[in-house]
Amino acid sequence: MKKTHNFEAETGRILELLTHSIYSNKEIFLREIISNSSDAVDKARLKSITDTTFLKEGEKFEIKLDIDKEKGTITITDNGIWMTEDELHKNLGTIAKSGTKEFVDKLKAAKENSEHNLIGQFWVGFYSAFMVADSVEVTSNSANNGNEAFKWTSDWKTGYEVSKALKEWRGTEIKMFINEANKELLEDWKIRELVKKYSNYVGTPIMMKELDNRNDEDKKKEPNKVFNYEKINETTAIWKKGSNSVKEEEYQEFYKTISSDFNKPLCHIHSSVEGMVSYKTLLYIPLEKNMFKDIRDPSQEYGPKLYVQNVLILDNAKELLPVWLRFVSWVVETSDLPLNISREMLQSNATLDKIKKALVKKVISELKKMSRKEPENYAKFLDNFWEVLKEWIHYEAELKESIAELLDFKSINESKKISLDVYLENCKTEKEEDKKTIYYITGKSQSEVLASPYLAQFRENKVDVLLLTDHIDSFIVQTLNEYKWANLKSITADDIELWETTEEDKKEKEEKAKEFKDLLELTKNTIWAEKIEKVELNDKLGSALWALKTPTGWVDPQMEKMMKAMGQPVPSQKRVLELNPKNALVSAMQKEFKADIKSEKLSDLMKYAYNQAVLLEWGELENIAEFVELTNKFAGGYIK
Ligand code: ADP
Repeated sequence: MKKTHNFEAETGRILELLTHSIYSNKEIFLREIISNSSDAVDKARLKSITDTTFLKEGEKFEIKLDIDKEKGTITITDNGIWMTEDELHKNLGTIAKSGTKEFVDKLKAAKENSEHNLIGQFWVGFYSAFMVADSVEVTSNSANNGNEAFKWTSDWKTGYEVSKALKEWRGTEIKMFINEANKELLEDWKIRELVKKYSNYVGTPIMMKELDNRNDEDKKKEPNKVFNYEKINETTAIWKKGSNSVKEEEYQEFYKTISSDFNKPLCHIHSSVEGMVSYKTLLYIPLEKNMFKDIRDPSQEYGPKLYVQNVLILDNAKELLPVWLRFVSWVVETSDLPLNISREMLQSNATLDKIKKALVKKVISELKKMSRKEPENYAKFLDNFWEVLKEWIHYEAELKESIAELLDFKSINESKKISLDVYLENCKTEKEEDKKTIYYITGKSQSEVLASPYLAQFRENKVDVLLLTDHIDSFIVQTLNEYKWANLKSITADDIELWETTEEDKKEKEEKAKEFKDLLELTKNTIWAEKIEKVELNDKLGSALWALKTPTGWVDPQMEKMMKAMGQPVPSQKRVLELNPKNALVSAMQKEFKADIKSEKLSDLMKYAYNQAVLLEWGELENIAEFVELTNKFAGGYIK
């Protein structure tokens, strides 16, 4: 007696959703089944390189399509790698794919919101057969097992069965009993159309069996007539064709098959290189994030499909791709590598190194091109992938400037994000040969950085400042340090001169410095000496009373926080405390200083100033209780 197995709960849910999906989604079933067959053939082709007995004489790898109108079936047969009894259970009874949960959720949402048509945007895999079939039979056999095969059957509603069956030779046969609603699929032209649309470039010949259009009498006369098969897809791989002979839709359709991203890519790079190393390559840069892959995770599967002499050697040749290029989808084919190349050999292979280097340059130049050609799409791309680009700067010292050129940033003067080049163009200096400065401020949010007292003087002078609020930005500016002919400088650095000072200004400054000198000295000694390098006056702080600066050569507060979070040792950092002499509270300090140098009020004011300045740069207070007490004192009318 046959034993019926239940599908996993998750699989059941998917099947339920698929079988009730709207009509326009259904045609993708063929793409899914053919893609599985093509994967199986790719694996078998690789095996046949080392095992000379794998192929029987005259055998060619192919996928066969057979429509039987009378029985209402479509059968797809391949001679690829097979499934054992266990594998039939494991592969077709469960869903092991990551992201399935998200998929089911999205699908459910789409159903509720029926104008969406989401199924076509996923690789739903084998189960999509049930969108068009009442039941499905999968028979699989290995090459050395005689005719003994195993058959998986299911009508999806009552679970599935696996039993012994007969099938000649290696491979898998998938027979779909097409349901009433989809009888149109049993037309020869329809299937040809679907193959052209979705599976033209699978890389294995898809052979369509001639239809049996004979009348009953003729059939009786010759019941065992042999029918011919005709190749109906393009078997010259897309990357081997000249770029002018591939249509835009074909590029886009192929992108789906190698990226599992169903959005349009930003662009593609298709090239054929002849020389010391010859290779053909087709690479896509995405526009949107792939919902099944977390782009921030460098441990995910990535890397090109590597073909050597028409054989798919590796699906994810990680070794060929710098980790920060993990967002691209890529196929590369070369005849300059041995067929039996292993992962170890890939890691240290001069041929591949050359390909890798050339590729990195190509990606950079293509992105630059896109930033000019399609600025809106490019901005979208950056919104989705800036994290990886910044990581890239960190890893690639040699290329850091070219990569920085690709990024964009918020700034105080511009409503849209701007590139570093645009910043430089907007900079006005009298002498062109002057080394320019790109000013920035780092912090953890826009509201935080916009609250900085140091922005006042930049606003006043109409000098733009980049607002760097990503956690990695402090690293980036430190790694870059310079960009083209400009220095990068934090606005909290202690050596910023925004305008030339007049003699009058200088004099006034000196006088003020003299007047406040002793107060500043005392302030420094009252606050923790190890925290403060010096105390200075700054009358360009706008309405702020005081603020902290980072002396040149010291790590800025954002970087300090980041290093601490990463468990790296950070030597105790000193700051420069600046007091605004134009402010009433600072004048009050000076008055108090003159009246009673040992006054408690004075020392409280100094500590209060320092703590507030620390808070302004979102630093951590050394002694919160003391600060609360000080605040309470002031609130209680300590200063009237
Ligand atoms: P996916 O192809 O994304 O893994 P599917 O649900 O389409 O998901 O298929 C599940 C698995 O079943 C495949 O990973 C593969 O191992 C196996 N399989 C499906 N079709 C075939 C086939 N024609 N030949 C060999 N194995 C197959």
